[in-house]
Amino acid sequence: MARGVPGGAGVSAILGLGRYPEAERAALEALGARMVADLDALRGLDAAARAGVRALAFRGHAPFGAAEMALLPRLGLIANYGVGYDAIDIAAADAAGIRVSNTPDVLTDDVADLAVGMLLMQQRRMLAGDAHVRTGRWAAGQGFGLSRKLSGRRVGILGLGRIGRAVAERLAAFNCEIHYFSRSEKPTPGWRYHADAVELAAAVDHLVVTLVGGPATEGAVSARVIAALGSEGVLINVSRGAVVDEDALLDALEAGRLGGAGLDVFWDEPRVNPRFAALEQVVLQPHQGSATRETRAAMARLQRDNIEAFLEGRPLPTTVN
Ligand code: NAP
Repeated sequence: MARGVPGGAGVSAILGLGRYPEAERAALEALGARMVADLDALRGLDAAARAGVRALAFRGHAPFGAAEMALLPRLGLIANYGVGYDAIDIAAADAAGIRVSNTPDVLTDDVADLAVGMLLMQQRRMLAGDAHVRTGRWAAGQGFGLSRKLSGRRVGILGLGRIGRAVAERLAAFNCEIHYFSRSEKPTPGWRYHADAVELAAAVDHLVVTLVGGPATEGAVSARVIAALGSEGVLINVSRGAVVDEDALLDALEAGRLGGAGLDVFWDEPRVNPRFAALEQVVLQPHQGSATRETRAAMARLQRDNIEAFLEGRPLPTTVN
């Protein structure tokens, strides 16, 4: 049923913002959504079209605050496509009486898989190994050298939420010793709690960052945390770019004061600092933690479930505020 088109041509109760996989775009349109690619396109809609919008299917990382919310005067729901909603100003949404929903749990496995995959790639020099074979250096008899063992190492999890716990469970299966930082100690199968990020980094070989993004965690991986990890340490970040002091990270990698990094997120995506490209000891990914066909379909389904529940006056499956 096209629930989103109560007001005639050009006016829809659902507005889809951002670029979606084709199937997910089609599913939103089948609900009656009008689609716009970005905030400029949203601003370009006429006043009647904006006034008809009650639910926004939000995708992206461009800040969405009070000024953007005011463009949609009847907006009642921002349904985020993703678990991290740091782009959305929750205080402004509260003040405007707008509900916000997200897509937790369905993406946890994929993001944890990518984090562990990057750590394995980094430790076992898999990018360099691939190049060694492809370029014919192996066939020409050149040696490849030795990498480092991952199984059994001490790994720290910075932020033992859903994704952090899933990373820890995977690495526990590699016989790694698990340490973690959270705002409070949590029930775990014997994992070691640290009340401070520097103390955590000093206690482990490698650190995986799984905190939320946003002002409260900006720069949480500071120069001191990176220094505590040390010249053999590897930093993995699948959280948000702004959680890591990127200049301090680059300085440490270039100077050999940090062993390596695996990064799915960056300060200024997708314009990644070109200093990273010159570093062999980093694995770089295009913010693809949840980007499998299966998980993106599940995220989109949950986003639509939230929109339908809101428009039909039912409790939302996943709310933020
Ligand atoms: P979650 O279960 O809510 O866990 C969030 C973690 O952040 C928890 O450990 C929590 O601390 C901590 N935290 C929250 N607010 C904090 C604050 N003010 N100060 C310090 N720590 C704080 O979320 P999740 O589902 O694991 O997702 C975590 C993040 O991963 C998302 O927010 C998103 O940014 C990122 N993510 C990235 C991708 C990707 O493609 N790379 C995909 C999905 C998600 P406590 O343990 O103390 O409660």
